[in-house]
Amino acid sequence: MLSTPTQLLRLSQGQLNLLEACPRKFQHTYLQQLSSPSNPEQEERQTLGSRFHMLMQQREMGLPIDSFLQADAQLQSWMAGFADAAPEILTPVSDNQTFRESEHYRTLQIQNYLLTVVYDLLIADNQQAQILDWKTYPKPPNQRKLESNWQTRLYLYVLAETSDYLPENISMTYWFVQSEGKPQNIKFNYNTAKHIQTAKKLNHLLNQLTNSLERYQNNEQFPQVVEGSKTCDYCQFARRCYAYGGKLRTQATEEPVKESLSNLDSILEVSLHLID
Ligand code: SF4
Repeated sequence: MLSTPTQLLRLSQGQLNLLEACPRKFQHTYLQQLSSPSNPEQEERQTLGSRFHMLMQQREMGLPIDSFLQADAQLQSWMAGFADAAPEILTPVSDNQTFRESEHYRTLQIQNYLLTVVYDLLIADNQQAQILDWKTYPKPPNQRKLESNWQTRLYLYVLAETSDYLPENISMTYWFVQSEGKPQNIKFNYNTAKHIQTAKKLNHLLNQLTNSLERYQNNEQFPQVVEGSKTCDYCQFARRCYAYGGKLRTQATEEPVKESLSNLDSILEVSLHLID
């Protein structure tokens, strides 16, 4: 008997965050690819953030970065502040026992989903593995929110599942290069209890996604958050939710720019990277 190849959906931490915050928003954003154009200020911030990441990668690969720094005072100031605050990261002890890689990519299959992570920098030796992540926005005031963000949860989870390291020997550190004064960091140490908890939450979320996708193929919409939820307050899809029969009493913001696509397979191929 011929077997049918399994189709995998690739999911990132950003998609898990959105799915958990509001499944309907996930539908609009990733299945229907509706979104508002970002404003010039947002674009500028994103470009600067990407350039910092690129610079750190280039540096890690041993490529020259001076010309980039000279051309950009902001990058120069971030890099100088970071070199001051974390010299051990920028000028590591050279030995053959430590593995370092920037933009380190890993995947983990759970059910029919391929969870993908990209670590800004991974440093690992025979005892421990550290995930490092650069943030070019100011340090968030709420550490607990950052810990429960799927970036933290998924990045730690995937490393524990795809390596020989015990959860207790894995950590993730965010570096906020733009914090007032000097760059600051927030470090999360992982452990087995957190690993088990993430496994449960992940499986629960993916089961819900599978159910929602099946219903979506039968023309049912993904669930919305409860009426009056704060999540709707600044959601760009508020008007759409209202127009499509929701009873959300929220301020409508920008209307999405593209119309929905009709075929689920083609949608998934475009936006969720369907893999055979
Ligand atoms: S308006 Fe509310 S229910 Fe609709 S997509 Fe946004 S967050 Fe979800």
